[in-house]
Amino acid sequence: MDANDTYEQLTRHVRKTKMLGSINALLEWDQQTMMPQTGANYRSEQAKWLAGEIHQRETDPRIGEWLQLLQTSELATDPSSDAGSTIRELFHQYEKKRKIPLDLVQHQAMLHSRGQQVWIKARKENDYASFAPTLKEIFHLKREEAQATSISDCLYDSLLDDYEPGAKTADVRQALEQLRDGLVPLIAVAKENQPRGNATALESPRFPASQQKAFAKIATSLIGFDYERGRLDTAAHPFCTEIGPDDCRITTRYDEQNFSSAFFGCLHEAGHGMYEQGLRAEMYGLPPGRYCSLGIHESQSRLWENLVGRSKGFWTYFLPIAKQHFPGCFEGMSDVDMYWSVNRIRPSLIRVEADEITYNLHIIIRFELEQALLQDELSVADLPAAWNKKYSDYLDITPPNDRDGVLQDIHWSAGLVGYFPTYALGNIFASMLFQTANSELGCQEGNFEKGRYSDLLKWLQNNVYQRGNQLRSDKLMKKITGSVIDHSPLIKHLTHKTQAVYSPIES
Ligand SMILES: [Zn+2]
Repeated sequence: MDANDTYEQLTRHVRKTKMLGSINALLEWDQQTMMPQTGANYRSEQAKWLAGEIHQRETDPRIGEWLQLLQTSELATDPSSDAGSTIRELFHQYEKKRKIPLDLVQHQAMLHSRGQQVWIKARKENDYASFAPTLKEIFHLKREEAQATSISDCLYDSLLDDYEPGAKTADVRQALEQLRDGLVPLIAVAKENQPRGNATALESPRFPASQQKAFAKIATSLIGFDYERGRLDTAAHPFCTEIGPDDCRITTRYDEQNFSSAFFGCLHEAGHGMYEQGLRAEMYGLPPGRYCSLGIHESQSRLWENLVGRSKGFWTYFLPIAKQHFPGCFEGMSDVDMYWSVNRIRPSLIRVEADEITYNLHIIIRFELEQALLQDELSVADLPAAWNKKYSDYLDITPPNDRDGVLQDIHWSAGLVGYFPTYALGNIFASMLFQTANSELGCQEGNFEKGRYSDLLKWLQNNVYQRGNQLRSDKLMKKITGSVIDHSPLIKHLTHKTQAVYSPIES
């Protein structure tokens, strides 16, 4: 059989496996948006069975044989071509997955499905003790998984690699430490000075959920999320998922006393969704039709949420529309007032609602704690105290309870360990990309004032979305921006904002 026939067989097999994966994604979407609590037990059985089927297909020995033949064929000559990147990434995935025993995969799938339900209840009841045994088992199995798939001396490396392929813990640690050193002086400026703007206008009890949804749909449509190929629903924890090449779902949650929470959450998830919708449909299920890494995915959500959505130009266009949707709110406010108000820096308890600066410290806290838990340097029983101590040390606040502390995120309950640092990488990548886009296209602020986002979107489609996973994230960033990872555009952007919001007003 020649290489082209082998490649055809391999990709047909992989696309079929992706079909099972997308069915699983639909079940997960349903679990978080629609499923009654009583459905949890049978759903975890379904998740277990599907995970087993997917794992068996992913570790089918024929894949090893096909790849062995293909790796020495002409198709693999250029590792960044469609065929070359497919062979490269499938080999990486196959080598990793085949080291994980089937019963571990099934056990984890069931545990993570149940874990989310246990977490939801524990969070609601502010009862960490009821979640602790499940969390302990989750980390125990994650340790087993990391040991089985070990790619270096560092256990955390193999989990991080699932989300940011090729990244090393030591490099990420260094990048985040440099970022933190750049952020600390900005937080001090915010602490010592009064902010401009009117933040209470964003927290008045006058934002009906239905109006929030209508306004969010207008904004997310205009920036480029395609509702013909997607939808917006409500969930306990906001997320974005793709069920197929033309079916992308985003979710949010509404707080009627807080305008920012759902609105910026929707821009964020729409950013993820636009990335998914911009991938090449004909490559669906294969690496070139798949997102590059979660750091790059997050760069897209953060770019639209913060670099676009919190810009002055954005509010020049959208404030009059917001005033129509929420009569009596934002009265007397100008676009500059709005810009100041949505860019306040305030150490807070909840990560997803944190400002652009302190958000990164929330991530660093989780990154440090999950490494300690994985390496057994910290016990699950001691986690709440360790969590509170880090909040006190890094953000100078202490959570009053576990609900707003260690129980706030869904990730660990769903087995997502090694995932958190990609959020901070995403912030760094977003600023690098935005800076390059502005220098290549000209400053986009003028376009934002006119409600025009298509130039920026097209640039992202050509440079990021259409490339899928042809390149790993470091190579992709180098190709687009000239640097592998560089926190200076993010620090420059945040310094500019801090000065705008916190410099004393001259009279
Ligand atoms: Zn995100």
